[in-house]
Amino acid sequence: MLGALECYERAVHRVAQDFARRGAVIQPVGVYLDALDALHVCFGRRGQTQEGILGSLRPTRDLELAIVEMADLLQEKEFDEGDITWPGCLPGHAHPPTATLSGGVACWQCPRSHESVFLIG
Ligand SMILES: [Zn+2]
Repeated sequence: MLGALECYERAVHRVAQDFARRGAVIQPVGVYLDALDALHVCFGRRGQTQEGILGSLRPTRDLELAIVEMADLLQEKEFDEGDITWPGCLPGHAHPPTATLSGGVACWQCPRSHESVFLIG
């Protein structure tokens, strides 16, 4: 389980960088392992000190998969902030892209054409 925690700690940096770069309000700030060995992500909102906790993250030792899991969870939070197409799909698409693994790399992918829109990070 320690391996998964370390993996998610590394994922926080990549996901935070991606969310900041693409103008998200939500930012991951850390990961937290509870007494029942469930992994949760702590997040904040840009410009605010109050934080929330979301979970659970699926245990993995694959950094790219950890990034996909975390980005997927936090994208839902970004939708809750009212930005329901964040981070934006291909030109002319009104739906949001989906966090997924493509060729073993975390990316935002169009749910319709399955084209990669951007790498996550
Ligand atoms: Zn699309």
